[in-house]
Amino acid sequence: MKYLLALTFCFYASISAITQEMKPEETKVWDPEPAVITPGMNGSAPSDAIVLFDGKSLDGWVDKDGGPSKWKLEDGAMVAQKGAGDIITKHKFESAQIHIEWRTPAKVEGESQGRGNSGIFLQGVYELQVLDSYNNRTYSNGQAGSIYKQTMPLANASKGPGEWQTYDIIYHAPTFNSGHEYKTHPTITVFHNGVLIQDHTKIQGTTPYIGPPKVNQHGKGPLKLQDHGNPTAFRNIWIREL
Ligand code: MG
Repeated sequence: MKYLLALTFCFYASISAITQEMKPEETKVWDPEPAVITPGMNGSAPSDAIVLFDGKSLDGWVDKDGGPSKWKLEDGAMVAQKGAGDIITKHKFESAQIHIEWRTPAKVEGESQGRGNSGIFLQGVYELQVLDSYNNRTYSNGQAGSIYKQTMPLANASKGPGEWQTYDIIYHAPTFNSGHEYKTHPTITVFHNGVLIQDHTKIQGTTPYIGPPKVNQHGKGPLKLQDHGNPTAFRNIWIREL
């Protein structure tokens, strides 16, 4: 025991000696300097972001066949139309910070997965669920903020139907060993209305309605918004590539 105490003392004494010999300058980093940007206000895009939807035009979006988006442009928002199909950004990305605002219909119709259902697919593959989860019980790994059929959100931070809500996302793209095996999994952190609901969550693969996740190798991909037959709206969408 005495020997251990002496050893511990020597260790801290030597660390303290090194620290005393050093000058403050030796641990200061001046170069490189982080880029200077102008931050946004109330969720608006910072100066170095790519704006994917500014409320005025659907130009940055196409349907899955590459044709023009059939979603409706309404009061600065784009609204899913039953039968119009999913839409994707022309812009393709890998790891990114993403801000997106969404609103489920004020008129409450349907229940469980049938109420305000849409989704945000990272790289067009992995669904972060959008749903009216305000007083609307459904399976936990299918409610708003879930990685669909994989990971439930840490909390239900939903606002009511007809209210604008925010997701702030930090997404890291996967790398692959082979066609069906990750080298590093994709990961996702999500703030829902400012509340942490996914904390560096490891994504297991695709997010199908039926069956387990699958791993399919992919490169850069778009942001995809789901048409699930409910008129869910989106606005103020921007991305900063990491
Ligand atoms: Mg969905």
